Amino acid sequence: MELDEKRLHRILKITCYHPDKKSTIINILDKARQKKGLDLEEVGFLVNLADRELIDGLFDVASRIKFEIYGERLVFFAPLYISDFCINDCEYCNFHIRNKGLVRKKLTLDEIEDQTKFLIDMGHKRILLECGEDPVNNTIDYVVDAIEKIYATKTSKGNIRRINVNIAATSVENYHRLKQTKIGTYQLFQETYHRETFEELHRYPKKDYTRQITTHERAFEAGIDDLGLGVLFGLYDWRFEVLGLVSHAQYLDKEFGVGPHTISVPRFCPAPTVTYKPAYPVSDSDFLKLIAILRLAVPYTGMIISTRETPQIRRIAFRIGISQASASSVTTVGGYNQNNLKSQPQFEIYDERRLGEVIDDILEDKFLPSFCTACYRVGRTGERFMDLAKPGEIHHFCRSNGILTFAEYIEDFATDGLYERGYEVINHYLNQIDNEEIKNQTLLRLKKIKQGKRDIYF
Ligand code: SAM
Ligand code: SF4
Repeated sequence: MELDEKRLHRILKITCYHPDKKSTIINILDKARQKKGLDLEEVGFLVNLADRELIDGLFDVASRIKFEIYGERLVFFAPLYISDFCINDCEYCNFHIRNKGLVRKKLTLDEIEDQTKFLIDMGHKRILLECGEDPVNNTIDYVVDAIEKIYATKTSKGNIRRINVNIAATSVENYHRLKQTKIGTYQLFQETYHRETFEELHRYPKKDYTRQITTHERAFEAGIDDLGLGVLFGLYDWRFEVLGLVSHAQYLDKEFGVGPHTISVPRFCPAPTVTYKPAYPVSDSDFLKLIAILRLAVPYTGMIISTRETPQIRRIAFRIGISQASASSVTTVGGYNQNNLKSQPQFEIYDERRLGEVIDDILEDKFLPSFCTACYRVGRTGERFMDLAKPGEIHHFCRSNGILTFAEYIEDFATDGLYERGYEVINHYLNQIDNEEIKNQTLLRLKKIKQGKRDIYF
């Protein structure tokens, strides 16, 4: 992947919005409704949009696409930081090597098991594994052992069924090792697509822009076809970053026949030893706008929001494009049972609610919380996933699997009236399954879950 930055700047310039371009925007929104994505120039017009009425039109199309493709489901996960050792010096991150006051911590396998048990007993089924870059402390062997330990950990409430991985850019050989441990998505954020800014904000191995932007290709070469992109918003002009993300997604689609499985939209958050102030802070309204634009531009790519955002922003974002969210997160190594009070977080978070509280909140908006991990476990990934997703076929499985995994959650964890409120939403969506065979099968499986059976899916 080589990004033609000049072209992106040119597009931003020529698509600068003028009131007389109204018909152009209306045509773009009409095209987006067909869920076939947008080209870069069309995205350019949308990022330059300033007219309130047209922005409302953009949000309207984004939420339609979101509901037509992803339905009412919202998938939950939690990050698990296994080590804050890092040899890089990213300006924005508290784990940067210049943080000499941080007593670095790398979890032992026993500690990883403890943290995992804590997450399982909270109701989680999906983990995003995270660590700093350190070839001595965080070797690929350590990461692989950690993944195997997490998968092997069980409590009376079940186990973790999918581990997504967010570790620094690495080699084909190392990605091959990751692939063998049966990871879900491999995510790596470009941080910024603007080369000059990237080189200014990073030192040591991560300063290598080319290494970062070509890493998904190496992962693909190693057989990982489930890939996640992202930008750390605030480092550079968000409008350029959106064009960068869409270019990257289109490149992967063209070169490998599969676009990214997910796009993450982290926004910079303050952190203890970070003095860096984002040069391009993204306002709440621009942040929501960029989520909506991405929803139109790459409709079949899942979008992830984290607890870097407030409950209020998350609530709106869920409607206009987000399909996965973290909940009850900590960004401290060993932070889930607080047995390592010397640790510091990677950054501050803005949604500190427990998983149960987040779930209760989204039920009010009639979202269906999902802990589904079925697709990758039955091999519906990469091209196979897209072949089902694009004609809308995946919907049939997803709604039922969402219902079944949420029923498991309710049976095992619901308190304070969540049981009743949860089943109310389940029944609402059960009635909307239009395929009689799948509906009957779902009812049968729900009955088994109530009788104590677990992990049954389509
Ligand atoms: N260390 C690896 C790396 O940098 O690629 C793995 C992931 S790192 C633990 C996760 C992500 O956290 C980074 O890619 C970065 O975008 C994000 N991050 C770092 N500092 C942040 C901050 N102050 N606010 C919000 N996100 C931050
Ligand atoms: Fe290290 Fe990642 Fe933090 Fe950079 S963002 S300092 S690579 S942990």
